[in-house]
This record gives sequence, C-alpha cells and structure tokens, in this order.
Amino acid sequence: MRQKRAKTYRKLMSLYSMSFGFRQPYQILVDSELCKASVDHKIELVKQLGTVLQGEVKPMITQCCIHELYLQRGQQPAVDLAKTFERRKCNHREPIPGDECLASVVGDSNKHRYVIATQSTPLRTKLRLIPAVPIVHINRSVMILEPPSDTTIRAKALMEQKALNSTASTETALLASLSTSTEPVPRKKRGPKGPNPLSVKKKKTPNLLPQPQLTKSPSKASLDGKDVGSGKQEKGEDKKSDDTHKRKRMEDNKGDEATAGSSNIVMSESTGSSRKRKRRRKGASNTSDSNVIHES
Ligand SMILES: [Zn+2]
Repeated sequence: MRQKRAKTYRKLMSLYSMSFGFRQPYQILVDSELCKASVDHKIELVKQLGTVLQGEVKPMITQCCIHELYLQRGQQPAVDLAKTFERRKCNHREPIPGDECLASVVGDSNKHRYVIATQSTPLRTKLRLIPAVPIVHINRSVMILEPPSDTTIRAKALMEQKALNSTASTETALLASLSTSTEPVPRKKRGPKGPNPLSVKKKKTPNLLPQPQLTKSPSKASLDGKDVGSGKQEKGEDKKSDDTHKRKRMEDNKGDEATAGSSNIVMSESTGSSRKRKRRRKGASNTSDSNVIHES
C-alpha cells in the first residue's frame, strides 16, 4: 500500500475511532462475493484487511452470507475461507440474500460498529446513507477502504457542534464567574487616582527637605532663616501631601474593608491629626469587625 493511501486510511480509521467509538479488533462483516473475489485474486484477505484498516481485525460472516456460498457450485475455496471466520448470528430462520442480511445487521445506526466488506454496489450505496459505516471492497486485486460518506461527515460535524455548544455553555459560565470576580479590580484602580502613593512619597521627601538646609546654611545667615522658613513651609506642604497620601491609603483600606460603618468613621476623622487617625483607623477596623459579626 502506498504511503499516501496508508495515511488517508489511518486518518479515516482514527475518525471512526475518535468520533464513533470503533475499537480494535475491528469487527468486519464479509459478504460471499468478497470471499470469492479474494480467492479469485489470490488475496490474503485477513492480512489485507489488517493492512487497510491498520489494526487488529476480526473477520465475521453471517449465516445468510455463508449459506449463499454453500448454494454455489465450485466455490469450495471460498467456503473454506469463510469457515475460518467467526459466524455472526443474524437470526434469519430462512436464509435471505446477503445484501439484505447485512443491511438488517447494520440497522439504521450501526450500533455494533461493524466494518462492512462487500462487493455489492447497491449495498454500498445503501450503507452510505447510514452514519459511521466503514466500507471495504476489492477493486481488481486492490482492497479499498471507502472515504467517509456524506452522512458520516454530517454526523461527525453534528457531534462536534454539540460538543462545542456544551463547552461554550461552560465557557459562558466561567466568564460570568470571572466578571463577578473582576468587579473589585477597577474599584481599586479608581481609589488611588495616580501613582502608588507609597512609592512616590519616599522619592520626594529626601529631595525637598534636607538638601536646601545643608547646602545653603553655612554661606548666608540672613537667607538661612528664609531658607529654613521656606524649608519649613515645604515641610508643611510635604506633611500635607503625606496626610493626603495617608488619607488615600485609608480610603484604600476603606475600600478593602468595604463596610459602610468604617468608611463613615474614616471620613469624619480626616480633619484630625495623623496619630488620631491611626488610632481611629484601628478603631474603625474594630468596628468593621463588629459590623461583620453583626452581619453574620
Ligand atoms: Zn441473515
């Protein structure tokens, strides 16, 4: 078998396995005409079936199909070959034509997952209307696995669609849970209104406070006082900015605590000194705790 064809067949069998639950050893229902053809063309039937389906195979024959061979004269080699296969009980008391027997065994869904090896063109046409029926036939001396029928492809697409829908529903559920969890994140971003105050404060304080005092104080005494004053002013401003930073921090904390009681207390205490605020902040956290207890 050529490499390209082998690849095609491997893909095809993996489709049947993945989408429709075909498993090795593949159960192959062989009809009487195919037994005859393999004898005529001196094909090692079981070996060829294994090569084409690329796996372990279990050839089978129905009672009706082997009966067809018994009725024909001069087909002893084909009968001998068929006798080596496992007999598939079809429960047809009076033997019926092989095509009809195989069609009835496959049914309308091929629930037993048979591979059908048949030389009958009408039967092959019929089986193409049933999803997931791998069909094998012999053309001259070459065994051929048919490409998947339109029905099979449609059935596969339908199954994939169903699978997609189920995953889509789980995805939407995940997204919903994510959206609820992401709600607090933008709030936190709104709170600071600028760069992180903790990082900004540390950079500013050494530049504004000590440098003018240290550099300018020894040279001019009269200006020194002004400098110091300005330094103090700067200090005051800096303190103010510190306070705002602290307020912001507290607001952040307020946001974190997310309790109405604690936020009220923090707002009222914003006019007081930082120490008081710190104490109150502890108090606020305590009240928030108590609030939480009350709520629970
Ligand atoms: Zn039968």
